[in-house]
Amino acid sequence: MKLAILHDGPEIFHTIQGEGVSAGLPAVFIRASGCNLHCVWCDSDTTWNFEGTPWPHAKDALPGYAKHRRSEVACEMDPAAAAQHILAFECPRVVITGGEPLLQEAEFLAMLRLIRAARPDCVFEVETNATRIPSPEFAAALDQFNVSPKLANSGLAESLRLHPEALLYFANSPKAWFKFVVNDPLDLAEIQALQVRFGIPQERLLIMPEGRNAADLDRSAAWLAARCRDLGWRYCDRLHIRLWGERRGV
Ligand code: SF4
Repeated sequence: MKLAILHDGPEIFHTIQGEGVSAGLPAVFIRASGCNLHCVWCDSDTTWNFEGTPWPHAKDALPGYAKHRRSEVACEMDPAAAAQHILAFECPRVVITGGEPLLQEAEFLAMLRLIRAARPDCVFEVETNATRIPSPEFAAALDQFNVSPKLANSGLAESLRLHPEALLYFANSPKAWFKFVVNDPLDLAEIQALQVRFGIPQERLLIMPEGRNAADLDRSAAWLAARCRDLGWRYCDRLHIRLWGERRGV
């Protein structure tokens, strides 16, 4: 089977990890096309907001914004070709992002094994929305899950965005770090409730401001960092937004 990723070129790219526990480290990103959610503020809407789908997006109101033609934004790639492309950057960290990478677990596992065989020191991170439990083989092959369950601010029904078995799995995985995007003080109570319900370890919880540019981040940071301090939570900035805004492939 081939991997469905966003167009080769911009969506396998050498950059720095912008958020989470490894923020600031150089990494090669590969972005999977396809997601089983459709968050209204998603900043990777090219992975799912295709022509013919009914989902709304916050950008719908922007002049010139339209749903994407799948053939123009996505392509298929053999796992071996993806591995070669990634290895060419000579970078010891790979981040598999999306979309939702766990929808293509078998293909990414094949890619990962090829990279690991050529480069045993390579560290693999996977970004996930925590709606699926990874296979034991995939989980064993990875070093880190960056788990980002979606809150009510995503515009999605709870039955779509919260999968209790998957959340319990990640809460008990020593490889999992949870990160939440916050855009309203009310989000914090929702995160607290999830933390208690699923036993998310305090030291593996990161809170980030929502925003598409540095000005948005600054506005949220002003109150959110202080609230994180008071709650004993780790505040995390979003470096890639500050450096590159919504530009893709950097
Ligand atoms: S889960 Fe992630 S990629 Fe999927 S729609 Fe939500 S924010 Fe976008």
